[in-house]
Amino acid sequence: MGRKFVVGGNWKMNGDKNQIFEIISNLKEASLDSNVEVVLGIPAIYLAYVKSIVPDNIGIAAQNCWKAEKGAFTGEISPAMIKDIGVDWVILGHSERRTIFGETDELIAAKVDHALESGLKVIACIGETLEERESGITDQVVFKQTKALIPAIGNNWNNVVLAYEPVWAIGTGKTATPKQAQEIHATLRKWLSTNVSEDVANSIRIQYGGSVTASNARELGACPDIDGFLVGGASLKPEFVDIVNATK
Ligand code: PGA
Repeated sequence: MGRKFVVGGNWKMNGDKNQIFEIISNLKEASLDSNVEVVLGIPAIYLAYVKSIVPDNIGIAAQNCWKAEKGAFTGEISPAMIKDIGVDWVILGHSERRTIFGETDELIAAKVDHALESGLKVIACIGETLEERESGITDQVVFKQTKALIPAIGNNWNNVVLAYEPVWAIGTGKTATPKQAQEIHATLRKWLSTNVSEDVANSIRIQYGGSVTASNARELGACPDIDGFLVGGASLKPEFVDIVNATK
């Protein structure tokens, strides 16, 4: 099927210039598996700095953007601005955006729509809370979040990566087991084949995110429907290299 493994590092609101310089220097020295696409999610204020020091084999992403090109939106950044400084990716719909900042499926869809229209590639995040999992509605939640994105994505699926991140596994040290993650990835892929197309279902890359570390990456990465990771905490540490290389 030829889905290239894609590992994202989501730095969230972490890092300063010194730490960033160190992280990028480490990655430059490391031998990263060339079969893996690497994309780092950088705080907006450091995007241009990282762009100026990052090697070509590493992509970078904004962690959010607004749904318009420009205008009276104090505090926001647009896809056009992200593109303007040479950045190709944006992460949208992260559960922290959904829960802390109240972003709805509709707003996220509008952002995805505009980001893709502007020529950015999108890592779109979905995932259920602990309460939803315990109520047995994981599938419905993930389908609903994905369904909201379908009209926004249109014919642009090749510029989208889906990140399945169970909220209860994010930053908690509690990872979904490979079986749990594989199950939902496979279910989602099947749902996409019915609700979008078989082509999209076969080609879309679905990352797993939620407490991925060097010690669990290999087993998770071996699952047939897991096409990469979105890594938070561990992406700030040297072990990120081992996560990138986990499928080598
Ligand atoms: P975590 O975060 O790896 O620290 O759990 C993942 C994410 O929020 O993308």
